[in-house]
Amino acid sequence: MASVRSYTSLIRHEGNQELFFFTELSVIGLKAGMPIHVHVEGLRGTGKTTILRAASSFLPQSVRIKDCRFNCDPVKPHCPQHILLSKEQLDAVETEQVKIPFLEISHAAKIGTVVGTLDLKQLTNKKEPEAALLPGTLPQAHRGIVLVDEINRLADTAPELTDIMLDAMGTKPGRVQIEENGLPTVSLPLQISVWATSNPDEDPGSLADIRRQLSDRFDFTVQMGRPKEVRTLLAILSPELELAAIQKTVVEADILLGQHLAEMAEQVGRIKIPSGILESLAEVYIKHHFESLRSLEALKTGAVLAAARRNRQQVTWDDVLSVAPAALRHRISPDELTVILQELQREKRVTENPAWAAGSSALPEKASQSTRKSGQSKRSLSWWSRFMAWWNSLLGSRRDNRQQGTASTKDTDIQSKSARRKLGPSTKRSNPLDMPLVTPPAVARPLLELDISDAITVGEVDNDHKK
Ligand SMILES: [Zn+2]
Repeated sequence: MASVRSYTSLIRHEGNQELFFFTELSVIGLKAGMPIHVHVEGLRGTGKTTILRAASSFLPQSVRIKDCRFNCDPVKPHCPQHILLSKEQLDAVETEQVKIPFLEISHAAKIGTVVGTLDLKQLTNKKEPEAALLPGTLPQAHRGIVLVDEINRLADTAPELTDIMLDAMGTKPGRVQIEENGLPTVSLPLQISVWATSNPDEDPGSLADIRRQLSDRFDFTVQMGRPKEVRTLLAILSPELELAAIQKTVVEADILLGQHLAEMAEQVGRIKIPSGILESLAEVYIKHHFESLRSLEALKTGAVLAAARRNRQQVTWDDVLSVAPAALRHRISPDELTVILQELQREKRVTENPAWAAGSSALPEKASQSTRKSGQSKRSLSWWSRFMAWWNSLLGSRRDNRQQGTASTKDTDIQSKSARRKLGPSTKRSNPLDMPLVTPPAVARPLLELDISDAITVGEVDNDHKK
């Protein structure tokens, strides 16, 4: 592995902020037992691998069974050697504090070194010959991080390694199988965060194009940009910074960051997600026909971890919005992403400013009361009613302004049925705001989902026959 830089000494700028953010979320998630997989896309030389490798300078500690090469959790051992221990034996077993494992899989790696092989040293031990397994990179990284640099190239040239990664990342926890001739296959649970980088502008292209399935396994895809300001570049090039990277103060800052993240991870279990946010996310999922449920899970997990990083007890729309682009950009088109982000922004505005939705007296009394009471929770109003409320309040205020000083019509009259009836076809409406708005007769559906009878009127069919 290349030499490790101090993480906290690296310069943050607009192009790499998102990566710093997700690196830290990932470590919180790992400590909290909610590992996330992060894929970083960016041009060569943007420093994505440097940031990820530097993360090993601040990784917090964890407890394991002493000398266990599978990094067994003393509370929940999983390796062939420790899984069968009784409660009493486990209580007596020696433990040790070690840094969270951080291992790298290279392109030249053989399957044996990634998953594991027969331990020849044990087998040829003259005193106690034993057929034991030597864990590979993946099982050794249990409860830790695995970095795959240029994963798009790996997916292109090593399909068998790609299949192993698909297994390891398919579920949470994932699985890894160690197979050796003459030995029963050992299948181990795998609690890891996979971090990967790729450069979609170079051969063989983006990971999504090579192995869409593998691309989807990543909870988040982070986009890495170059620094845009001269000031940032000068800071990156400053010799003091190079020096600071090896000074003790910076190392302490790294350790401190690791401790902070570990503390944040302890709060994760207590963080609540308002039901309104969950319902809105589910609505977005259904409305936009997301291919995989992973997108929704990533949004939810990411929002919880983001709330933990901000020391909040409850997820807010800001948390959701901070992770949404990375959770969705590798699963949908850029246009769809823009639309969805706008929808989420609108949900945030409605939640934070109930007056936006409750501006109309045309709303049923009960609904407007619940709007005022519910605060963070989801309003019973549909999107359409909220839009109507906003529109009607706008209509009302414009009308009030215009009719000031004259015998004005009350707001309620404008929206009442009698008022609508008065606006007959002959009424002049030069101002579009004077248009009466009514709820559509049925919930709008995409054209392709309509029955033939809904889409084609009888008249049209008849005309067709007459031709
Ligand atoms: Zn073990």
